[in-house]
Amino acid sequence: MADRVAIVTGGSRGIGRGIAEALGALGWRVVVNYASNSKAAAEVVEGIEKAGGKGLAVQCDIGIAADRDRLVDETIGHFGRVDLLVNNAGVAPSVRADLLEAGEESFDRLIAINLKGPYFLTQRVAKEMVREVNKPKSKRPADLHPAIITISSISAYTASVNRGDYCVAKAGLAMMTKLYAARLAEYGINVYEIRPGVIETDMTGPVKAKYDKMISEGLTPIARWGKPEDIAKAVVAVGMGLLPFSTGEVINVDGGFHLRRL
Ligand code: NAP
Repeated sequence: MADRVAIVTGGSRGIGRGIAEALGALGWRVVVNYASNSKAAAEVVEGIEKAGGKGLAVQCDIGIAADRDRLVDETIGHFGRVDLLVNNAGVAPSVRADLLEAGEESFDRLIAINLKGPYFLTQRVAKEMVREVNKPKSKRPADLHPAIITISSISAYTASVNRGDYCVAKAGLAMMTKLYAARLAEYGINVYEIRPGVIETDMTGPVKAKYDKMISEGLTPIARWGKPEDIAKAVVAVGMGLLPFSTGEVINVDGGFHLRRL
């Protein structure tokens, strides 16, 4: 896996950091994208290099087209190609607001970062992957299996009426995964959606007490918080090519939250 190249958006903290570190520990070359926290991104790169991988921190606001292009250009310039794109970067609404009151500003922000960003970053990276796949055999790694993973959420199908903008953006990612899976299969590029449940990160810090209580009262069959490492293990399985005959697949990493129970 040593020459493999991954872009992990939002790799500076939380779930993205867990993914970047897990790939780094396998010797991958990992582009650690971040929005503003350069110190955290530098720490992740340092950890990756200590573990035997190679890291590159790239600032880019995933909601801005020129930034996304720069992210891909820097990746190709530095590492030559992209084997794995992990669309992880995402934000929660600054304020949770009732569906009947919530404003357009928050909606536009969440759609730009959580949906439009990954949608067009995937388009750009997919073209780079297709270019790589179409190279003569002698000019590419023997067992090339490029893949794209999008970290959505249980919010893709769970209605939370105090953050409709977040839910709508995540539901959009579910269709995005199907679309790119259907379009890219002919090139051998598999596309997956990972749906995390309740994961312990900075994002869920403000609602920790609420979820502690819900988990202790039976919210999930596996009665604990998820960890970034739980998501990272699923990403590693895809990155290693262990799901070769599956594409457009949803991988629930949610402690069984999605199960209907009676
Ligand atoms: P987090 O701890 O808040 O970390 C967010 C990461 O995304 C940071 O690395 C941040 O960079 C980056 N980021 C934020 N806005 C960005 C932008 N505009 N452009 C580029 N990078 C940006 O969040 P998390 O909990 O790890 O969540 C990661 C993903 O999992 C999100 O898509 C989230 O919706 C999803 N998810 C989370 C949970 C959960 O329970 N935590 C559950 C389901 C799904 P900086 O460090 O520079 O700010």
